[in-house]
Amino acid sequence: MIPSTVIVVGSGLAGLTTTIQLLTHRIPVLMLERFSHPGGNSIKASSGINGAPTPFQPVPNSDSVTAFQADTVTSAGEPLVAATGAERTRRQNLIETLVENSSGAISWLADEQGIDLSRVAQLGGHRFARTHRGAGKKPPGYDIVSTLLGRITGDELFRMETGRRVTKLLREVGGQVSGVEYTFVRDNETVVERAYGPVVVASGGFAGDAQGLLAQYRPDLAGIPSTNDRREGTQPLLQEVGAAVVDMEQVQVHPTGFLDTKDPEAPVKILAAEALRGEGGILVRGDGRRFVNELEKRETVTRAIMEQAKELPTTARQWDVNLVLDEGTAAALQTHLGFYTMKGLMRQITVGDLAEEMPSLNEALRDYADVVSGKTKDSFGRQSFGNWTLTKVQPESKVYVGKVTPVVHFTMGGVVINERSQVLERQGRPIPGLWASGEITGGLHGQNRLGGSSLLECVVFGRIAGDEAASYYRGLEGQCPVPS
Ligand SMILES: Cc1cc2nc3c(=O)[nH]c(=O)nc-3n(C[C@H](O)[C@H](O)[C@H](O)COP(=O)(O)OP(=O)(O)OC[C@H]3O[C@@H](n4cnc5c(N)ncnc54)[C@H](O)[C@@H]3O)c2cc1C
Repeated sequence: MIPSTVIVVGSGLAGLTTTIQLLTHRIPVLMLERFSHPGGNSIKASSGINGAPTPFQPVPNSDSVTAFQADTVTSAGEPLVAATGAERTRRQNLIETLVENSSGAISWLADEQGIDLSRVAQLGGHRFARTHRGAGKKPPGYDIVSTLLGRITGDELFRMETGRRVTKLLREVGGQVSGVEYTFVRDNETVVERAYGPVVVASGGFAGDAQGLLAQYRPDLAGIPSTNDRREGTQPLLQEVGAAVVDMEQVQVHPTGFLDTKDPEAPVKILAAEALRGEGGILVRGDGRRFVNELEKRETVTRAIMEQAKELPTTARQWDVNLVLDEGTAAALQTHLGFYTMKGLMRQITVGDLAEEMPSLNEALRDYADVVSGKTKDSFGRQSFGNWTLTKVQPESKVYVGKVTPVVHFTMGGVVINERSQVLERQGRPIPGLWASGEITGGLHGQNRLGGSSLLECVVFGRIAGDEAASYYRGLEGQCPVPS
């Protein structure tokens, strides 16, 4: 039987990108999304998407594919170093595919889809400013997802069914994946249905699966809040049809989720975007002291917080840390700040008043002012200061401050794919009719994902998955011509 559609599971950036690519080839798409609203975690992304080299990076631009690749390899760390043979080659191929297509991904979004990506920040672990977002009011995740959704809505070849939870992949014995089984609720009854066709799984990570995959692979993270809404990981569905998984224990704990003092125990936190530090923000402990280079890799900053800040007496595991922005940094982040102050997560205060709460703050700010103005070197090694302009610290100087704490944020592990987004079995063979892209996949980021590289992987591997699934679908049509 010739399937009438390609099935895309998940409506985040990876699923949307794959869909656009399939529609470009004029292949019909059925998108199945478990929640009532599309967008997944992608819609929440707040710092931006990486690309190098691009016309939006500051000039003169010394960034390059090679530099981006080197930063990604350094960040991936031990799992890449320890890998040998075919596994090492596969990881290297994924990294190369990511960075070599990053400039093209930015131009696809900016030039072909019309998304503003003109502001560029330097995030932790990057040697250059290469994380792109828009200059307007919309956060990058919302801007990208809503624009792509607008592109496909109304296309006669596209159908999205929300409230559909895929529970099973259908695979013929040793052969191809031929569809999915999914459930939904109709008239208070759970209904089970099947759809047939090649499948691209873009169902995201498991950082919101506290009781399931997180408890299985990282029980030590129990009690640490998350930036991800609660939902179970889907890797086991792919394992059931033979897919291999990798790096499942590599979970990113982001150093800065906002701790809302009105609801300190909330298990899901709003992320304090890494761009806040990239554009100039600093971290101080409860007593006002700086303790880390804020632009170190996420895992390093998180470790410093856990080792050097006081653990709070809350039921959730949280630490006493503050994010401080001066007025220069705040001006570069007006949209972010408007949202955070509206939510009561950051407040404006004078240095004099804040110093009454934090006895070491004055000294920390004066030391930092000397570093920024070039009088001294930062004892923590920070070399890039974004838009920080507070170099004469007075009691009446204004700053913004918010409480932050480490949060479970992203899962580096997932199903094994190759550079063609094909899902692989343990022996390394591709499973026919099955592709995956985005956070569901593993191996690319090793032990630490660089900020901005997740949206990038969604676009790069989502486009590849779309192209591959399109040619597979055309091949199926060729095997058995459609009766006229
Ligand atoms: C607060 C926040 C801020 C972030 N900021 C950035 C950033 O600035 N830059 C960056 O690069 N990365 C960022 N990330 C990470 C990045 O947003 C995600 O890793 C990425 O968007 C994942 O995209 P995805 O398409 O793979 O998955 P998602 O966007 O999570 O989409 C997956 C979709 O699949 C659906 N789904 C899951 N299971 C099923 C099922 N069984 N059946 C049907 N549907 C299913 C989900 O409901 C979801 O809608 C951020 C993450 C968070 C949480």
